[in-house]
Amino acid sequence: MEGTQSYSEAYAQRVRMRRFALSTAVYAIWTLVFCIAWLLGLTDVTGTQLGLLAAGVTVTVFAWHQVFATGLNLRFTDPALTEAQTLTGLAWVLVLMYLAGPLRDLVIPAVLITLLFGVFALDRLGFLRLGAFTLTGYVAVSAALWWRAPEAVIPAAEVLRLVVMLAVLTWGVLFGSYVGRLRATLKTRNAELVDAMHSASRLARRDELTESLNRRSLMERLAEESVRAAGEARPLAVVLLDLDHFKLVNDEHGHLVGDEVLRSFSRLARHTLREVDSVGRPRAFGRYGGEEFLIILPDCDLQGARACAERVRRALAAAVLENGCRMTVSAGVAEHRPADTVHSLLARADAALYRAKRQGRNTVVAEGDSALKLSLAPVFEFSGRFRRS
Ligand code: GH3
Ligand code: MG
Ligand code: MG
Repeated sequence: MEGTQSYSEAYAQRVRMRRFALSTAVYAIWTLVFCIAWLLGLTDVTGTQLGLLAAGVTVTVFAWHQVFATGLNLRFTDPALTEAQTLTGLAWVLVLMYLAGPLRDLVIPAVLITLLFGVFALDRLGFLRLGAFTLTGYVAVSAALWWRAPEAVIPAAEVLRLVVMLAVLTWGVLFGSYVGRLRATLKTRNAELVDAMHSASRLARRDELTESLNRRSLMERLAEESVRAAGEARPLAVVLLDLDHFKLVNDEHGHLVGDEVLRSFSRLARHTLREVDSVGRPRAFGRYGGEEFLIILPDCDLQGARACAERVRRALAAAVLENGCRMTVSAGVAEHRPADTVHSLLARADAALYRAKRQGRNTVVAEGDSALKLSLAPVFEFSGRFRRS
């Protein structure tokens, strides 16, 4: 999980860097446009001013690059620092407008493009702040230009320019807010979808009554473990458990109590399994069907599995369940062989279970147990341990 998080964090940081590269392109394009205008003699900006402008833009881009490259951005609520980046961009646009003087119409598209970067993170209020900043800045730039060279100002053109700026800003703010809202809705929907997928996959894997694994996921897991056991020559064992005389519970106490007994047994078995040490891959426990349960024990040999089954058998024999019910369970144990399929392995566990029933129930029988051992089974102290890998 941690690995997944750091992977998605690294991915998010790459996306932020890509957006930053996009904004660098905007800086580069308008600086270039300005240089061309200067070369063509279209602007009265001096070479020194142009040099300072290029240096300032380079320093800004470099500083932002460092913020992302060093991970400093990760300390902020919005690690993309969208509003700050957009504000910096808009501030440079205003500087360009001032330097461009009569040519500042060339810079108006840059206002819109820079503003649109906000759609990655900003809400309506954020856009309004950016819009207000740009409008105030624009009015200040126009006033400064007027003050610098009043004779160059054509009032009617100024009014028209202001109208265009207002239209551009209004459109940018409305459009940005709209896309921002869409983005937020999508994000919420996406999170809900991921949640729904997780719970659907959990539901598909769980048995509704006992909340342990269901037959389908047990079989999938067993198939995986079987391939692994064969491929890596590691032990694998299974225990098939069947509650003894369960039908009597239903007959005497009713189906609902029967259901409750199944739930209790499942809880008790899981609790008991948690108490048994194991090395290697996790065990799996689930409802195989009706009142039958299956334990999958990877990295565990026949003796270890027998000991495990015996623990569960004893725990149940000692427990008092719903309505004062006392239950017992019989178990059949089998160990994976190289040529086994899932079905041949389960068939041997089932045959051992059948023998346990025939032996009088409340018994664990492992495949290959001799008749002598079987007669001793209920009093036999199993000392098998999980095989250490
Ligand atoms: P044995 O010791 O030979 O296993 O006897 P048993 O009575 O446990 O076995 P049998 O196969 O005769 O009966 C199993 C019963 O389990 C029959 C069925 O009604 C009941 N059963 C199966 N699934 C459920 C369930 O989800 N809820 C309840 N309450 N009963 C169930
Ligand atoms: Mg049964
Ligand atoms: Mg039964």
